[in-house]
Amino acid sequence: MQINQAFVATMKSQFRPEQFLVNEPMSRHTTFRIGGPADYLFFPSSADEVAAIFSLSDQYHLPLTILGNGSNVLVLDKGIRGVVVKFNSPFSSIRQEGNTIIAGAGAILGAVAQYAAKQGLSGLEFAVGIPGSLGGAIFMNAGAYDGEMKNVVTRVTAVNRQGSLIHYPTAELDFGYRHSIFQENDQAICEIQLQLTPGDTMSIHQKMAGFTERRIKKQPLDLPSAGSTFKRPEGYFAGTLIEHTGLKGFHIGDAQISEKHAGFVVNKGNATAADVLRLIHEVQDRVLQEHGVKLYPEVRILGEE
Ligand SMILES: Cc1cc2nc3c(=O)[nH]c(=O)nc-3n(C[C@H](O)[C@H](O)[C@H](O)COP(=O)(O)OP(=O)(O)OC[C@H]3O[C@@H](n4cnc5c(N)ncnc54)[C@H](O)[C@@H]3O)c2cc1C
Repeated sequence: MQINQAFVATMKSQFRPEQFLVNEPMSRHTTFRIGGPADYLFFPSSADEVAAIFSLSDQYHLPLTILGNGSNVLVLDKGIRGVVVKFNSPFSSIRQEGNTIIAGAGAILGAVAQYAAKQGLSGLEFAVGIPGSLGGAIFMNAGAYDGEMKNVVTRVTAVNRQGSLIHYPTAELDFGYRHSIFQENDQAICEIQLQLTPGDTMSIHQKMAGFTERRIKKQPLDLPSAGSTFKRPEGYFAGTLIEHTGLKGFHIGDAQISEKHAGFVVNKGNATAADVLRLIHEVQDRVLQEHGVKLYPEVRILGEE
């Protein structure tokens, strides 16, 4: 990689040292524990800083990639060119106003769900075991069990590539199955407002504990993964189709179709992104051959092969 010294000097003069890393392996920033280096990795703490990094990247002609907690991505082995803007703890404030919770995009979804429970607010119990950031959950319209983000979101504030703040009411977010408008508009989700309903703290905690128990029983949480590898095809479950194709436990290198839940690809230790991609293609081909159903990845693929 060729470091752009002028860009690095500008970044160092404008931001705190812990906000900016150069040539940083993305395997440290994804739940798959896979991924080559990002040229530059930046952790913003405000919408103004997001606007500033957008403007600097543009000025230095550097491509931009946005990341949350890295729990739904496969970063390829040669890594990501240009700047990765990662929303995490510096952008994770959470506050309550009546039945509304307002939080930064970097807040971990489970932490927001726990916070809501503590305030006696119901509606986010489903989210307790989803290991994403709140921004990533909006981007994906994450969901589980009896809920999805679209049911609780009332407003999202994002920054566009020109650095302007845009406020979206729910009706303008184009939510669908694992879809939101942000998959098409290159904007960075910064702040999210959730409307919840008053409930009994004890029952909310009980419901969350029940969901957690179901996850522990069914999902391979002891191994790195990016959750469900494929979207749910209409009328089927990806995991069941893969299992019925005889692919449970099938592996390429250290990338394996989980023995516990065939909907998950897990990293047994040293899987590369190339292993995961080959495994995905093999599964797609064999499921199509045997069941006539095309599987599409839910995991988002970033970077260079
Ligand atoms: C063990 C496990 C279980 C899971 N269970 C579920 C589940 O039950 N239901 C479910 O829906 N998902 C599940 N997932 C997948 C994942 O946690 C969700 O999709 C989550 O919402 C992704 O959030 P993230 O912050 O990790 O996003 P990332 O993986 O970091 O990014 C995902 C996409 O969102 C974009 N993005 C992230 N943050 C922003 C932002 N602030 N602004 C603009 N774009 C952004 C990125 O560019 C990327 O394209 C699971 C994953 C794992 C590992």
